[in-house]
Amino acid sequence: MSRKLKGTAAAPGIAIAAVVHFHTTLDQIPIYTVAEEDVAAEIGRLSGAIETVTESLLDLQKELAGAIGKHDVRIYDAQLAILHDKTFRKDVEDEVTERQANLEVALQRVIARYEGVFDAMDNVAMRERAADLRDIGRQLVGALVAIGRQKYIADGADYLFAADEFLPSDAGILDRAHIRGIVTAHGGKYSHGAILARSLGIPAIVGVDGFMQETTSGAMAILDGDAGIVLLDPTIEELADYERRLSEQQSVDSRISELRFQPSVTPDGTSVRLMANVEGVQDLEALELDTMAGIGLFRTEFAFMERRQFPTEEEQVAMYLRAVESADGKPVTFRTLDVGGDKPLGYFQMPEERNPVLGWRGIRLCLAWPDILYTQLRAILRASALGHARILLPMITTRSEVVRCREVLDQLTADLRANDVAYDAQIELGIMVEVPVLVPVLPEILEVVDFVSVGTNDLVQYLLAVDRDNQRVAKMYDPFHPGVLRVLSQIAEAALASGKSASICGEIAGDHWFTPLLIGLGFRELSMAPVFLPRVKLMVRSFSLDECRDLATRALAMRATSQIRDLVHQEIQPRWAAQLRSPSDDTFGGAPA
Ligand code: PEP
Ligand code: MG
Repeated sequence: MSRKLKGTAAAPGIAIAAVVHFHTTLDQIPIYTVAEEDVAAEIGRLSGAIETVTESLLDLQKELAGAIGKHDVRIYDAQLAILHDKTFRKDVEDEVTERQANLEVALQRVIARYEGVFDAMDNVAMRERAADLRDIGRQLVGALVAIGRQKYIADGADYLFAADEFLPSDAGILDRAHIRGIVTAHGGKYSHGAILARSLGIPAIVGVDGFMQETTSGAMAILDGDAGIVLLDPTIEELADYERRLSEQQSVDSRISELRFQPSVTPDGTSVRLMANVEGVQDLEALELDTMAGIGLFRTEFAFMERRQFPTEEEQVAMYLRAVESADGKPVTFRTLDVGGDKPLGYFQMPEERNPVLGWRGIRLCLAWPDILYTQLRAILRASALGHARILLPMITTRSEVVRCREVLDQLTADLRANDVAYDAQIELGIMVEVPVLVPVLPEILEVVDFVSVGTNDLVQYLLAVDRDNQRVAKMYDPFHPGVLRVLSQIAEAALASGKSASICGEIAGDHWFTPLLIGLGFRELSMAPVFLPRVKLMVRSFSLDECRDLATRALAMRATSQIRDLVHQEIQPRWAAQLRSPSDDTFGGAPA
C-alpha cells in the first residue's frame, strides 16, 4: 500500500525517483565564549565569511543565468543585499561584543530574532522572506566553519530533493542532470525556492507536513506537482499509471514546444489572443514575444515591493519605458499598485486589519493616498508616448471609483499637454473584475472603461468565500463551481453587448483544462504565466468554436462541480491524447492568424 502525503503544488509536472534528504538547518555549530581581548578578532572573521558567501552567490547567479529567467536570477540580489546590510552586520557584531558570543552563535541569534519579526507578520509573502534570512545565516555559518557544500551526485541516478525547505542557495548544489523533483516540509508557493523551481522547470511540492519524518533517503516516491501530492512506496499499478503520465508529459512538452510559434486560432479560424502575465520588466525581457499577443497583466506592485521606498516618477517612467520598448508595439497592460491584502509594502505603514483581503487594498488604498496613484499614472502616461501601454485598475468595487480615476487621468493628461509632455491620447483604461458585486452592474461599468480583465484568482475566492491561500479550505476553491461558470458567462455577455473586450488574467486562463470552456463562454483574450502558454495554445488549436460553445452550453446547464469537471475531462482528454499522437494532424498546420 502506498502512502499519500499532501502539500502545496508549487511547480507543475510529475517526477518518479528516490528521495534524498538534505539538511538545511543551522544546527551543528561550535559554541564558545569569546574573551574580551579576542572580541575584535572574532568580529574580524565576519568579513571573510561575507566575502566567501558573496563570491559563491555571484558564481551561482552566473551559473543559473542561462537556465532561469533574468528576473529570478535577481532573487540572489535580495540575498546579497541582506549580506551587505549595515544594520544586520552591526547587530551580529553587537551580539559578539555585548554577549561575548562566538560568531556562529551570534549569527544564529540575530537570524532567529529577525525571523521572529517576519514570522509574526500576517502576510504570507513577507513571512516567506524569512527563508532568505535563514539561507544567508546558513551560508555564513557554513563559510565560518569552512563547510563547503558539494554538488549532490547520486552516482548518476535520478533523485527527488527533500528538505525542510528549498532555499535559493540550494539551487547551487542540485545536479541538474538528475534532479527530478523537490519536496519540502515547509515553505509556500510564493517562496523564492518555489519561484526558482518553477523557473528551472523542476516539479515541486512545498509544505508537506512531516515529510522528513515519514521518509528516509532512498525511499521511492512519486511526486505529482500538479495535484500537490507525493505517493510514498507506490504500488506497481500506481507506478505504471504515473510512468504513462510522465511519458505523456514529456511528449506534450516536446510537441507543444514545436507549436509555440503557430497562430492562436481555433481550427475554424476564431482568433484567441494569448498574452503573458509578468511581475517585472525583466520577466518581460525574457519572453519570446513572437509567440504571444502582448502583456495582459503587468503586476507593478512587485517592483514596489522589492524596494525600500516608493519609486520616484522618473524611476517608474524608466521602468515602464523599458517595458513598452521591449514589447515592441505589442500592448503592455500595467496594473496600478495592487498592494494590501497578502501583499504588503515594507516601507508603507498599513493599519492592522482583521480581514486584510476584505480591507484596504488595491485601488482603495491608492485613492486614499492619491499621490501614489498620480505619480504612477503620470509615469505610465509618459511611457505611453513611446509604446503601447494600457492601464488596469485593481480591486474596483464601484462605478464611482472608476469615474474618480478617469477624472485623475484627465487632470494628468491636461497637465501633460500644458507642459508639452508627450503621451498616448488613445491610452485605454480598464479595470479588473474581481469583486463579485461588479458583475450585476457590469453594463454600467463598461460605459466608463475601455476594457475589463477578469481576475479569477480573487473573484473565485470572493464568490466562494474561500481564502485562496488557506490550505485547510483549498479543496473548496474550485473554479469549476457552476456558480462561477455562470458568473463568467454573464461577464462575457455584458462585454459582448457593450463591444468592449473582456480578458481573463487569473490562473484559470493558463489552465488548459479551462481553455475550450472559456472560449465557449465568449472570452477571446487569455493572459497567463508564460510557461502555460504553449499548452493553452494547443487547446485553442484543437477545438472548433462550435465545439467550445456546445461544451459551455452543456456545462452551464449542470448543477454540480464534479459533473462539470467530468464533462470537461471527457471532452478534453481524448483530444489531448490524439493531438499528441498525430504530429501531422491538420490542426498543427499553418491555420490563418
Ligand atoms: C486575480 O485576482 O485573478 C489576479 C490576476 O490578480 P492577483 O492574482 O495579482 O491578485
Ligand atoms: Mg487579484
